[in-house]
Amino acid sequence: MSQAILQQLQQLRQQLEDYSYQYYVLDNPSVPDAEYDRLFRQLQQLEAEHPHLVTADSPTQRVGAVPLAKFGQVSHNIPMLSLDNAFGADEFSAFCKRMADMLDSSAEFSFCCEPKLDGLAVSIRYENGLLVQAATRGDGYTGEDITANVKTIRAVPLKLKGASVPAVLEVRGEVFMPLAGFNLMNDKARATGDKVFANPRNAAAGSLRQLDPKITAQRPLMFYAYAVGAVEDPVQLLDSGSHYQRLMQLKDWGLPVCAEIRLVTGAEAALAYYQDIMQRRAALAYEIDGVVIKVADLAQQQALGFVARAPRWAIAFKFPAQEMLTTLLDVEFQV
Ligand code: NAD
Repeated sequence: MSQAILQQLQQLRQQLEDYSYQYYVLDNPSVPDAEYDRLFRQLQQLEAEHPHLVTADSPTQRVGAVPLAKFGQVSHNIPMLSLDNAFGADEFSAFCKRMADMLDSSAEFSFCCEPKLDGLAVSIRYENGLLVQAATRGDGYTGEDITANVKTIRAVPLKLKGASVPAVLEVRGEVFMPLAGFNLMNDKARATGDKVFANPRNAAAGSLRQLDPKITAQRPLMFYAYAVGAVEDPVQLLDSGSHYQRLMQLKDWGLPVCAEIRLVTGAEAALAYYQDIMQRRAALAYEIDGVVIKVADLAQQQALGFVARAPRWAIAFKFPAQEMLTTLLDVEFQV
């Protein structure tokens, strides 16, 4: 058996590495996300059946891709991880059961339910309320310094509001391109014979990772905060016990937070949130590819901890694939 399995593992890893390089480094994916996800799951399954063959450099153990050398590098003292996926209600139930077993609790979870924005993760550092640095996720440990570019996004405050701002605050969130701006930009490109972007995610990534911030400034980018990284806060306003309250505190400091975020109790209510957002997906002003369900209680989050590349207390509950291979391959787009 083992030679054939080893070969299959090697092929899958190589294929996923190639796709990741095109997606994360070149902002130019060659296959739809659903195809990437399918191969990723195949690899996960194979590694689960043969745990002794898991390697530290397998795509299942890693986040994103190494940052591009043309940007300065920023270390993330608190790593920026990925999320595990659930496809369907059964996998979501399994996620809830795993957590209940680990915490040895039968009480219903309080969940913070959020749209899964289709952009790219960034970390923005404020010192005494002033924006001092912004970075991409990169490989989770080292990202690219994109401070000048992030400063051009009008929704991102250069200075936090209020008197009690932390000495240090790393805000994590998604930079994305709302659909109206994306369509307008592509219409203009078509009219002038320029290349069009394939989708808002690639438009956002290509726009943000520009060496010239003047180009970024012309792109209709938006940001929503959804988490915090390193914090030094003598007033301890972020230690309030709930992820949801944390987000509301970020909002009070002037950071944009998605208006569709809800705090719910129990798995059924989280499922109802998923259904509701899926039905309203086409009417939203931005693209999403699912929802993120997070255990809201910070003490429970801490007790659950992390696995190799993702927290145990959150899951990306993805929508069924909509993307067509032809759409992606037929359209040329610029970085
Ligand atoms: P992910 O996109 O599945 O989930 C993690 C990311 O979700 C975070 O880093 C963050 O950027 C984002 N996110 C959006 N809203 C969020 C919220 N409210 N809270 C927390 N995070 C939120 O994982 P990933 O590791 O960034 O990428 C893997 C995915 O990228 C794959 O599932 C695949 O769909 C796609 N991908 C596609 C290709 C391709 O060739 N098409 C290649 C590599 C990856």
